[in-house]
Amino acid sequence: MKDSTGLSLAAKLPSPPNATHKSTFTGVRPRHIVLTSHPNRFGSQAAFPIRWGQADPIERGPIIATVTDPAHRNVIGTHSGSYAVYRALAVASGVLQPGHRPDLTNTSPTVPIGPYRSWADPDKIVSFDPFGALVSEVYKPLLKKNYDIRPTIAITKAHIQIPELQSAISQGRIQEDGVIVKPGGDLVVNKAAIEPVWHLPGVAARLGVDEGELRYALFEQTGGMFPELITRPDIKVFLPPIGGITVYILGDVAAITDPLRPLTVRVHDECNGSDVFGSDICTCRPYLVHGVEACVETAQASGAGIIVYFRKEGRALGEVTKFLVYNARKRQQGGDRADAYFNRTECVAGAQDMRFQELMPDVLHWLGITQIDRFISMSDMKYNAIVNSGIEIIERVPIPEDLIPADAKVEIEAKKAAGYYTERQTLNPDGLAQVKGRDLTD
Ligand SMILES: [Zn+2]
Repeated sequence: MKDSTGLSLAAKLPSPPNATHKSTFTGVRPRHIVLTSHPNRFGSQAAFPIRWGQADPIERGPIIATVTDPAHRNVIGTHSGSYAVYRALAVASGVLQPGHRPDLTNTSPTVPIGPYRSWADPDKIVSFDPFGALVSEVYKPLLKKNYDIRPTIAITKAHIQIPELQSAISQGRIQEDGVIVKPGGDLVVNKAAIEPVWHLPGVAARLGVDEGELRYALFEQTGGMFPELITRPDIKVFLPPIGGITVYILGDVAAITDPLRPLTVRVHDECNGSDVFGSDICTCRPYLVHGVEACVETAQASGAGIIVYFRKEGRALGEVTKFLVYNARKRQQGGDRADAYFNRTECVAGAQDMRFQELMPDVLHWLGITQIDRFISMSDMKYNAIVNSGIEIIERVPIPEDLIPADAKVEIEAKKAAGYYTERQTLNPDGLAQVKGRDLTD
């Protein structure tokens, strides 16, 4: 039997290209490959079907994305998002045994999160596994039977130091309390790292598209990387090769779900140039740090503060596109202007934004949030996504004017004019054309 490419379904692997890496290519690694385009490649005998949205994790079924035991697999894709490619390099180079299983001793969460009612709602969380941090606990019997089930969420504790908050302390806006802010200015946080696990019917419904269309686009736009998206419509869960989410929690975790205690939230999409390197073309780092300060204030008022950090660089268009857009903006006739801010992005990327905030509130539902007292964001897309998902937002907090870098006026005025939340007046087209940024000669 042959698949659509005409290749034999059990093609022989060629000889290893580098005989010095013998240990990698013998023993554990299978001697032949079976193309994943074959419908019976895996999972037809899957012992654990996934029933997304079941309250009991055993009933729901474990996410088994192992590549070492194909018969156990019940999902498309594999662990670690894009880092799976580095794992492949490690295997190819002989520094990682392909059959390695993680030793999960002492890796359990530092604080408990959930389970909440939202975990048992198939529509509330569709883009990751709510039980992802509890794998070694809830699937212990299966792990003992040698099933390769891996956590997709990890929760740890850290002290963080942010220079801007040291000034907030020295200026008296934040007090050292010894618990949330340690002497010397360290902030004490619990933080969770979350890998994407998509329930495809849920993701399609959230985006308002047909599941088949979604599968086809995912297959096509990844260069055919995951044939099972097309050949295995019965397998509903996909671990996409994308970046994940980090959640920073300040204050008492129990306050997150207590309606009598205040909650501050900022949802931040990655902007490496500003967040890490202080680029002044946008407001990302100043707004992020303002969000952290607001979280500290709320935590110190017996509440909790949450920063959610999404790896969606440059509105999920990627940094290469972003830098191309910067050049296009700054070299266009009339210079970098607020009235042309979104146009230049669309010219290069084909779309202004690919973040799809519709999937974003999942993380808030995982945390059990039903009400946000202070939402540190001006984005109408984020606000609408959260409110439409059933979470109430009491107050929206715009970035203070004095935190906006001069070159970022173009961005902020363009966004306000496009519907971002502001307490000030937005500019008309003539006014927007007057807001200009630096050019590339400076
Ligand atoms: Zn930015």
